[in-house]
Amino acid sequence: MAGEPQDDCLFCKIVSGTIPATIVRETETTVAFRDINPQAPTHILVIPKAHHRDAAALAAAAPEVAADVLRETQAVADEEKLESYRVVFNTGSGAGQTVWHAHAHVLGGRGLEWPPG
Ligand code: IMP
Repeated sequence: MAGEPQDDCLFCKIVSGTIPATIVRETETTVAFRDINPQAPTHILVIPKAHHRDAAALAAAAPEVAADVLRETQAVADEEKLESYRVVFNTGSGAGQTVWHAHAHVLGGRGLEWPPG
């Protein structure tokens, strides 16, 4: 069911503490942790604690939590002292999504090209 923890979901396991992560921020509804394979000097993932397969599903089922995730991307950028940064929601395998639990990538600390690859 939407929002319920999934036994086979890596990020649900990070939320529950079953799998360790370098957590940088936590709220009632979100967790932010460092990406295990950073693509920039700062690369942090902000996720809802509840399981939703992607950002669109999260926004449809729990728009207030989607707003919490966005607020947390700004909080992360502030804590990391990023003047410029990029927030990415890869959605669908063709766009590079590999973990099916909604997550915002916060990337910064270097110049970021546009358009992305
Ligand atoms: P996606 O490709 O947009 O789905 O992003 C998934 C991200 O999760 C990738 O950037 C991975 O490097 C990251 N990732 C996978 N496993 C872990 C982990 O155990 N801890 C932290 N980040 C992870």
